[in-house]
Amino acid sequence: MDFLVRIFLGFIVVGAFGAISYLKKLVNFSGLIMGFIVGFTVFVFPQQGLELFLLLLTFHLTAGLFTKYKYNVKNRLGVAEEKKGARAWTNVFANGLIPAALAFMEGMRSDPVFVYGFVGAVSSAMADTLSNEIGVLYKYKPRMITNLKEKVNPGTSGAISPLGEAVIALSGLLIGFMAYLAGLAPWFIIPVSLVSAFIGNTVDSFLGATVQAIYYCENCRKETEKKVHSCGSITKLVRGNEKINNHVVNFFMSLTGCLTGILLYYFFI
Ligand SMILES: [Zn+2]
Repeated sequence: MDFLVRIFLGFIVVGAFGAISYLKKLVNFSGLIMGFIVGFTVFVFPQQGLELFLLLLTFHLTAGLFTKYKYNVKNRLGVAEEKKGARAWTNVFANGLIPAALAFMEGMRSDPVFVYGFVGAVSSAMADTLSNEIGVLYKYKPRMITNLKEKVNPGTSGAISPLGEAVIALSGLLIGFMAYLAGLAPWFIIPVSLVSAFIGNTVDSFLGATVQAIYYCENCRKETEKKVHSCGSITKLVRGNEKINNHVVNFFMSLTGCLTGILLYYFFI
């Protein structure tokens, strides 16, 4: 496809999904702008931009759907991740920077390794978002990744549950399967996507349990990742490093997923 045609289509296709996402309140205005930059980069630069964009879109739409899913229940439990369920630019940036960078590099120098890194990052991000959004609804108490004997409240950073792990596996398989069906890579991309999602999210939980800033809301008597809780109260730092918020952890999760995809490619292909 001619590059100018791709730019033109990019504005229309990415712009249309951006507009829908904004109107459906999947993103706020800052999230819309950042989402457009990420989506446009992925759509326009790589050889298979449309296919890569479809993977990104799958992540974006399922994340939006499951963020809204039982939002009122999550909000009442104090475990809702985003204000009113709309994602801001920081969230889009943390999850989208690495896929956008890989897509750009693929456009500069066509090499399958960038597709493997892209799939690893996107499957990790989707697994993380979905396991958070669905995992908090788990009926039983999850356990800390650093001490599996320790039961904690749903929504605690660093907590893992069988439901959360199942969602991670399904997300990894789905993105891998879609990449295979879209013709982005041979079948080997499916296990790569699964393993990347698992390793990326294990690192995410581990960072969440150790160095991530965790606050306490005295109003709700709940631990939270936010400086200002969803109830509006200012919270107090109880553990972790103030500089390492949820977005920083998400960035490292995305980076780990990407590197896992790249390493598996170099080891096995
Ligand atoms: Zn609160």
